[in-house]
Amino acid sequence: MEFKDMDIRPELISNLAQHGIVTPSEIQARSIPAIMAGHDLLAESETGSGKTLAFAVPMIESLQHAHGMVQAIALCPTRELAKQVAGEFDKYLKHTDLRTVTVYGGVGYEPQIDAIPDSDIVIGTPGRILDLMERNALKLDGVRYLVLDEADRMLDMGFIDDIEQVIDATPEDRQTLLFSATIDYRIEVISKKYMRDPILIRAKSQEVRGHLFQGYYVVNPWQKISLLHQLLRGHKDWVALVFCRTIVATDHVAAELAKRGIDACALNGDMSQAKREQTVKEFQDHKFNILVATDVAARGLHVDGITHVFNYDLPDEAETYVHRVGRTARQGANGDAITFLSEDDYRKFDPIMDRYDDEIEKLTYHAWGRLERIPPSPPRPPRGEGRPSGGMRGAPRGGPRRGPRR
Ligand code: ADP
Ligand code: MG
Repeated sequence: MEFKDMDIRPELISNLAQHGIVTPSEIQARSIPAIMAGHDLLAESETGSGKTLAFAVPMIESLQHAHGMVQAIALCPTRELAKQVAGEFDKYLKHTDLRTVTVYGGVGYEPQIDAIPDSDIVIGTPGRILDLMERNALKLDGVRYLVLDEADRMLDMGFIDDIEQVIDATPEDRQTLLFSATIDYRIEVISKKYMRDPILIRAKSQEVRGHLFQGYYVVNPWQKISLLHQLLRGHKDWVALVFCRTIVATDHVAAELAKRGIDACALNGDMSQAKREQTVKEFQDHKFNILVATDVAARGLHVDGITHVFNYDLPDEAETYVHRVGRTARQGANGDAITFLSEDDYRKFDPIMDRYDDEIEKLTYHAWGRLERIPPSPPRPPRGEGRPSGGMRGAPRGGPRRGPRR
């Protein structure tokens, strides 16, 4: 099913499509019709599964701008999450005259107070919403939709009293929509108290994957470091995992990148547990952006927002390749997986190509300029442009030798 098969206006469908959103995730496919039919909802689905649009789409569809009356309110645990939710709304309500306002603490009241009278949808953290209500700047008696987003986290953060006060200020005939990564007894308590015959949706197939681009460069082993440097430099916003085969290689690559002014750290089994944990934490906190790791060291590593996976060395198993590249293109974001292929690896690359139906694109050198030669490289003729190449298929010489297709 696609969004266009749902009972949604074409303008909204095309707004979504312009942002590459065509097929609803499971939580969206199941929540949107239930909300549009007027039900209260208890929805459980993991982070990155597209919960925001699950409630934004029906609200954008059904609400109309009404000056001076807040019609919907979404409670979020943090300022960042409130901003993210508001960002999604603002992207997709362009064809309507609806307005949102985002309210959270730590900043002045005035701009928020000024924006409220003209806003239909209030998105914010419970504390500031209450503050604004107490200052008579926010009235919730026209609210038709009440959303508790990331409810489990709001409860973890101790917002239950605030949440209850906000709910009590909304009309009883509102529609209450609760979204959470996990639904536990605490949430059942809320639902018993504040919801009418809620529909419970637990989404199984979870995360929204973005588009994964896969490509490879044919490169001499001694030029890999130069290639990696060329690709990384000037891209401070990339968050990359570079996979090497050996511990020695991870140290070497991280050091060579650091020498060239690129913030990179190694992660391998030679490091103490404490040092490894510290490195992972710093990477997760984006203190540096390039992590050079062995497969073993990277096992179980969870980092959001990886934009690039580099196979500096090819793994022995196609399965390992699949695991590596699966660390990017997550939570609806796009990602690139770039493999450095040297002649010795052609044989190992065949099963990987088979697995991806030959869809891994051959990339050429001119995309990244001239190669600098790294000592102690033996003097060899540079390869690259002008080289009789022609991609994987039908390349008699110089290209990877394809084994018989299975
Ligand atoms: P959650 O709240 O479940 O953690 P979000 O609503 O923040 O997830 O969505 C995560 C990302 O996925 C966002 O960048 C969003 O734009 C994107 N996204 C949501 N739904 C889809 C979809 N149906 N197709 C592609 N990307 C989507
Ligand atoms: Mg969310």
